[in-house]
Formats: sequence, structure tokens, C-alpha cells
Amino acid sequence: MTSAAEADSGAGVNPGNGRTLPTLLQYADVPSTGPKLGASAPVDCHCSLVGTLEPRQSADPRQSLTTGADATLLPPRKLPTNSRYAALLAMRGRTLGSGGLYDQVRLPPGASEDEWLAVKTVEIFGELNLLTGAFRDICTQESCPKMCAGTFEYRWADGVKYPKAVRMSAPLYMETLLSWVDEQLGDEKFLPVEPGIPFVASYRKGMRTIYKRLFRIFAHLCHSHGQEMVEMECDAHVKHCFRHFIYMVKEFNLVEDSELDPLKELVTMCMASSGAAA
Ligand code: ZN
Repeated sequence: MTSAAEADSGAGVNPGNGRTLPTLLQYADVPSTGPKLGASAPVDCHCSLVGTLEPRQSADPRQSLTTGADATLLPPRKLPTNSRYAALLAMRGRTLGSGGLYDQVRLPPGASEDEWLAVKTVEIFGELNLLTGAFRDICTQESCPKMCAGTFEYRWADGVKYPKAVRMSAPLYMETLLSWVDEQLGDEKFLPVEPGIPFVASYRKGMRTIYKRLFRIFAHLCHSHGQEMVEMECDAHVKHCFRHFIYMVKEFNLVEDSELDPLKELVTMCMASSGAAA
């Protein structure tokens, strides 16, 4: 069987050319201290994010998506509440939305880091499942015949169903990716639910593969659908989800910096306002 750890990178990543994401960056939380925005950048691969739109006022970061708001791409996944995760899930239920976003990714005192990673990863998977579902009418085979993020292109391989990297349209790639992650999270050998069952030695490596791949959804949506995000008034919500994701990545060192290159400016700006050192 395949675990996240055994699967290969699945990447066919081309080096980027340093292009920027001015539209999303305009909505960053650190407008006065962040790096200067690029005015424009070379565009290829259907990127519509480069624009000159003025930031909207009073963007609500919890604003719901206006398209397919409640439609996840795959059925929602939950950890059983009567499992080894019961206490952490109950604690998450009590503290959700309280405190800073970075505080919400920190390991709670006394908690197992492996279990915390499991709880948070299912949560983040749920956010991306919802987000991808919301873009399904916009991100289509026609609009996005390749899974790209600016000049980066990703090809899918998972070592089993796709032993060799293959080019896919962005919607198919994202669906395949989410299905693969869902399979990992549903595999009790990878994510044990019974108390006392040890996590496999490859657990952390598997988690890193999951996060590396999930990042690509943000990379594609931000590069190729930034304009639509603004028009749908969900850009603040997307960025909120991305901040949650990247704080998790940084707190637990889950993705190599080089993999984050397609959104490196956004990462830098999110981290500048994270309060991580607090
Ligand atoms: Zn797309």
C-alpha cells in the first residue's frame, strides 16, 4: 500500500521568474511595512492576478465565498470524536476563533505533537476542500488546462495510481490531490484513531508530503484566479485560509522554502504579521 511518505514528490516544477502577486499582496495585513508591490509582471498561463485594482475597504476575513459557499469538493472528513483525538477536538471546539490565528496552530501544552498535527491537518484539509469546491465553476479544464502557478507547472505522480508524472488540468489535479490526501487521512495505519497505537515512523515525512502538495492549490488559485477572488469578494477569506496553512507549515517545519517559491512574497507578508515570535 502507499502512504504519503512513500509517494514521490509528484512535481514537475519549473523555476519561477520572480513574478509577483500584487492583487493579493494589496490585501496583506501589513500594508505599510511589507515589501514594495510589483506594479506589473509578465503574464503567462492564464494568470489574471496581476492587476491594478484598488483594495476594497473593510474586507471581512471571515467573509463567506459567494460561489458554491457550502460545497466541498469531496465529502467532509472528520476525526471521530470518540477517539484518541477526543480531548484535542473538544479543545478546538472551545477555542476556535479565539486568540490570534498563529496561536491556533501552536501545540497546546501537554498535547502530543503527532496527534495535534493530525487534528490540524484534517482541519486544514477541510478548508482546502471547501475552497477548491468554491472555485469549481471558475477553474475549469478550459480555463486551466495545466496545473500551474505563474511559470511553475505541477504534474501529478503518486507512485501508485500515477507512477509517472503526468500533466493534468488544474481542476483534475486538485481533485486528484485532494482525493489522495483524503485517502492518507482516512488510512488508520497512517493516522491511527485508537488510543495507544503508535504513529508510523514515516508519519512526519508523510505529513510533509501532504503539506507540500496542498500548498499547490493555494499557489494555483492565487496565481490564476486572483482577479476572480477579488470579484467574488473572497480574497480576504482565501488569504485567511492561506495564513492558517502557512502558520502551520512554519510552526512545524512542514514544507521546504523552495517549494513555497510561487507564493514567497505572500508567505513573507503573512509571516511578518503572524505574531509568531510572541
Ligand atoms: Zn484554475
